[in-house]
Amino acid sequence: MSLPSIIAVDGPAGSGKSTISHQLAERYGYLFIDTGIFYRTMTLVALRANIAFSDVEALTNLTHQTRIDIHPKNGDSAHPYTVLVASEDVTDQIRSPQVEAWVSALSAIGSVRAALVEQQRRIASQGKIIMAGRDIGTVVLPNADVKFYIDASIQERARRRYHERISKGQTANLKEIEAAMIERDRIDSQREVSPLRQAEDAIYISTDNKTIEQVLDEIGEKLEIWQPA
Ligand code: C5P
Repeated sequence: MSLPSIIAVDGPAGSGKSTISHQLAERYGYLFIDTGIFYRTMTLVALRANIAFSDVEALTNLTHQTRIDIHPKNGDSAHPYTVLVASEDVTDQIRSPQVEAWVSALSAIGSVRAALVEQQRRIASQGKIIMAGRDIGTVVLPNADVKFYIDASIQERARRRYHERISKGQTANLKEIEAAMIERDRIDSQREVSPLRQAEDAIYISTDNKTIEQVLDEIGEKLEIWQPA
């Protein structure tokens, strides 16, 4: 069986793309890179530095100056990776509602994206990689061997995020989560630079009413019959 070297996975917030990509990487021995981490981390760093999200020059400089390191998970962390900025572990902080409220504003800035996309392409050039995000199949890795677009209804996506927060002992309100998600998707798919959209050659996968195992099997079948062009 010859497996593809580069797999691109895109989709909206809460579609399950990160969980699926992570498990797929474990099953088939790929390195998984979740590019949302880069945008979330830069949002956190900008909030801490008190930089206005309208200050494009300052945000671009900050992006060039910030070193983001992604390592395997720490102990019993709920996340499959550890994110470090200047040696500080920010893995939990980048998932805060405040970061989620601002991340789409930062992600709409072309010069910030250019700096982050350059890092993402460098990582992907190692091969044997699954990269997930919003613009991987369309912009970051348009020549990926296989592309998936993973989707689910807004109700299902909001419910998943709600249960994720509750299981971590956090407070959560389903209606508020749904409204914040709709707004983030709206900005992500309507922005001028690299909007969220399905690449023409991507395989569409809906995760509604399916278990993770079912989705993994569905994608696994497609990978196993893959043939080099
Ligand atoms: O996937 P995740 O929810 O962690 O992404 C957080 C945000 O980062 C998205 O809402 C989007 O604004 C931005 N993002 C992006 N391009 C990517 C990955 C994430 O614009 N490739």
